[in-house]
Amino acid sequence: MIAQNLHSLDLAELRQVAQSLMTAAAERDAIIERKERELAFKQATIDKLTHEMAVLKRLKFAAKSEAFNAEQKSLIEEALDADLAALAREIERRTPGKNTGDKGQAKRAALPPELPRTEHRHEPDSTTCRCGCQLKRIGEDVAEKLDYLPGVFSVERHIRGKWVCTQCETLVQAPVAPHIIDKGIPTTGLLAQVLVAKYQDHLPLYRQEHIFGRAGLAIPRSTLATWVGQCGVQLQPLVDSLKQMMLKSPVLHADETPVAMLKPGNKKTHKAYVWTYCTTSYDAIKAVVFDFAEGRGGQYVRDFLALDDSGPAGWRGKLICDDFSGDVAAEDMLCPQA
Ligand SMILES: [Zn+2]
Repeated sequence: MIAQNLHSLDLAELRQVAQSLMTAAAERDAIIERKERELAFKQATIDKLTHEMAVLKRLKFAAKSEAFNAEQKSLIEEALDADLAALAREIERRTPGKNTGDKGQAKRAALPPELPRTEHRHEPDSTTCRCGCQLKRIGEDVAEKLDYLPGVFSVERHIRGKWVCTQCETLVQAPVAPHIIDKGIPTTGLLAQVLVAKYQDHLPLYRQEHIFGRAGLAIPRSTLATWVGQCGVQLQPLVDSLKQMMLKSPVLHADETPVAMLKPGNKKTHKAYVWTYCTTSYDAIKAVVFDFAEGRGGQYVRDFLALDDSGPAGWRGKLICDDFSGDVAAEDMLCPQA
C-alpha cells in the first residue's frame, strides 16, 4: 500500500514513513525476542520435567530388583506411578498443541454392564435455532463415569443430545461438563474416595484395588496411582492458596514428623521429614499445610515461610514449635536440635 504511494511523497514525508517503519520493525523485534525467551523458558521447563520423568522411570526399574518385600515394592511402585502421572500431566499441559489428551484414551474397555446406571441428560437450553426453526434431535454422545459409594459402584451415563436445524444445518449440543481427568472414567466422588482412603485412612492403593474388587471392579493399582498423581497436579493451586492464606496469620504452629525415605538403588532408607504448619485455634481459618523436606534443619522452615525474604513475600510473626518451652520469635528462629 505504501509502495504505491511512494512516488507522490516528498523527502520529509518519505523520512517520516521510513521512521515509522523502523519503529514498527523495532517493536516487532522486541516482541519476537520476548516470545523467543518465553519459548526457551517453556522448553527448559519441559526438558526438566522430562528429565525428572526419566529419573523416576529408572528408579522404578531399579526398585524391581531390590530386596524389598512385596508390600514395600508395591508401595514404592504406586508412589512412583503417581509421580510419573503427575509429571506426564504437567508436560502435556505445557506442550503446545498437546492439550487434547486424545491419544489412547478412546480405546478404553467398557464399564461392566451389570453395574447400576443412572442417566444424566444434558440438552441445550433452547431447541429453537438462531434462524427461528425448531431443532431436530438426530443423535447423542454418551460418556460413562464410574462412581463409588463405600461398597457400591455405579455408573453415571452422561447423555448429550445432538440437535440440528434442517433449515440451516446448525448443530447444537450441551457442552461437556469439566472433569478432573479429561475423558477419564472416575467421577470426582470416586477420586475423593481414593485420595481420602490413601492419605486419611492410610490404605495403600494395592489394598484399595482389593476392596474395589470385592465391590465388583478391581481397578488396577497402576490406574489408581495415575489418578492420584493427576489429582495432585489439579489440587496444587488449592494448596498454594491455602498456604497464602495461612501466611497471613501472625501466629503459626510448626512440627515435624520423621518418615523413612527409601532410595531405590542404594538399598538404604534415610530419615526425611514431613513438616506440618497450621494456624492456631484462635484463627478463623483452620489451615494445615504439609511440606516434605529431606531434613529437619531450620533452613527448611526458613524456606517454607520465606523468612529470608525481607519483601512482602516473607512471613513475619510468632512461630510455635512443640519442642520449645515457649514462643519463638521468627527472627530468632528455631529448632535448636537442628
Ligand atoms: Zn436454523
